Amino acid sequence: MMTHAAYDCDVLVIGGGIVGLSTAYALTRTAPGTRVTVLEKEWGPARHQTGRNSGVIHSGIYYPPGSLKARYAVRGAAELVEFCREHGIAHAVTGKLIVATDSGELPRLHALVQRGRKHGLPVRELGPAQIAEHEPRVRGLAAIRVGTTGVCDFTAVAARFAAEVTASGGQVRYGAEVVAVDRRPWGVAVRTADGQVVRARVLVNCAGLYSDRVARLAGDDPGARIVPFRGEYYELARPELVRGLVYPVPDPAFPFLGVHLTRGVDGTVHIGPNAVPALAREGYGRTAVRPGELAGTLAWPGSWHLARRHWRYGAGELHRSLSKSAFTRAVQRLLPEVTEADLRPSPAGVRAQAVLRDGTLVDDFLIRDAPHTVHVLNAPSPAATASLPIGREVARRALLRARATGWTPPAVESGHCV
Ligand SMILES: Cc1cc2nc3c(=O)[nH]c(=O)nc-3n(C[C@H](O)[C@H](O)[C@H](O)COP(=O)(O)OP(=O)(O)OC[C@H]3O[C@@H](n4cnc5c(N)ncnc54)[C@H](O)[C@@H]3O)c2cc1C
Repeated sequence: MMTHAAYDCDVLVIGGGIVGLSTAYALTRTAPGTRVTVLEKEWGPARHQTGRNSGVIHSGIYYPPGSLKARYAVRGAAELVEFCREHGIAHAVTGKLIVATDSGELPRLHALVQRGRKHGLPVRELGPAQIAEHEPRVRGLAAIRVGTTGVCDFTAVAARFAAEVTASGGQVRYGAEVVAVDRRPWGVAVRTADGQVVRARVLVNCAGLYSDRVARLAGDDPGARIVPFRGEYYELARPELVRGLVYPVPDPAFPFLGVHLTRGVDGTVHIGPNAVPALAREGYGRTAVRPGELAGTLAWPGSWHLARRHWRYGAGELHRSLSKSAFTRAVQRLLPEVTEADLRPSPAGVRAQAVLRDGTLVDDFLIRDAPHTVHVLNAPSPAATASLPIGREVARRALLRARATGWTPPAVESGHCV
């Protein structure tokens, strides 16, 4: 039996993105006195998905009622706005338009109206003249306006979570890549690339693009593989063409929302992201290849099923990725005035998308636990929006796993922080 002092911490979180840091933050809030350590391989927070995205606080309108995405996004959006307000983090609740440019999209747009109302969201239907009142340069047959969508600086949110964790006595260690996990009857021991060993009662895996790999290091079968999809952006040279947030009607076959126009908190307008297979999990450039990672993706049967099923969609995305004029033509459906010269390349992001063995794209958030471990295996968009409720749920599971070792969180035991 390990003594309390023999553990370096009670809960060890791998990953200093918004999900890992929100989990650590939730632990310090719901069970004060719990010793929490976050290990992040980069030299600061939010260097991957969290710091390379559209920065949109999603309303939750897209997600099926009852799904974790719907529950956590609707609640999470409101909580995140409150968190940003409380901590002075740049944000704005601007509302957004979802615009149909083709009559074939109208039934799907109407279905979104119904769904939004089921979620209790403020949704208004707009005709072409009303679209022009909100966005004079945008063209569409019909649109809906969702009032609770906004924008914020997710990097600043993640950094604030980290600051709150350390202020509560937790540790956030950067430059600490976990390379081995040893599960024992008493808990887990992890080893970092520089040879440090950290022992904990429970391991929480929030490793984003590497979450399946970390699960396997721990000896758990994730049942899915992360297939990385790069999302490329352009910055609009004439930001005055777009006032707020403008989205196309999404294709329900895919978890991606389609190329959108986003005015961020700093006033710049970004156009993107598309969705093309990445040849490395952190492959932000078109030519970035990691042969071992690519081989892993190709060895997963789900990748081939996915390619066979959706090759037409994939070919279109690839074409628009390689040809700026094809990308511009696609954007012109929403914003007819835009020209190739208006589009300046901007940094890309890579989505961690879990794919099952049969090629199914895992749509909902996926959290699994096993003895001494909790794994976040699929946390794509809108996980940044939903980070506060996701963090609380992961923290709840981690505390249950810790209690299974006979441990009681200090606050529960003594009623005060220790
Ligand atoms: C192009 C794009 C656009 C998006 N737009 C939006 C949006 O507008 N709104 C929204 O809500 N969501 C959006 N998302 C989704 C959102 O960014 C993600 O859901 C969210 O950032 C996931 O956070 P995370 O902490 O799980 O992952 P990450 O931010 O990727 O963090 C995982 C961390 O784990 C670390 N790590 C990995 N392996 C190890 C290891 N072995 N040891 C130590 N550390 C390790 C990594 O370095 C990384 O920092 C978008 C995503 C992309 C890619």
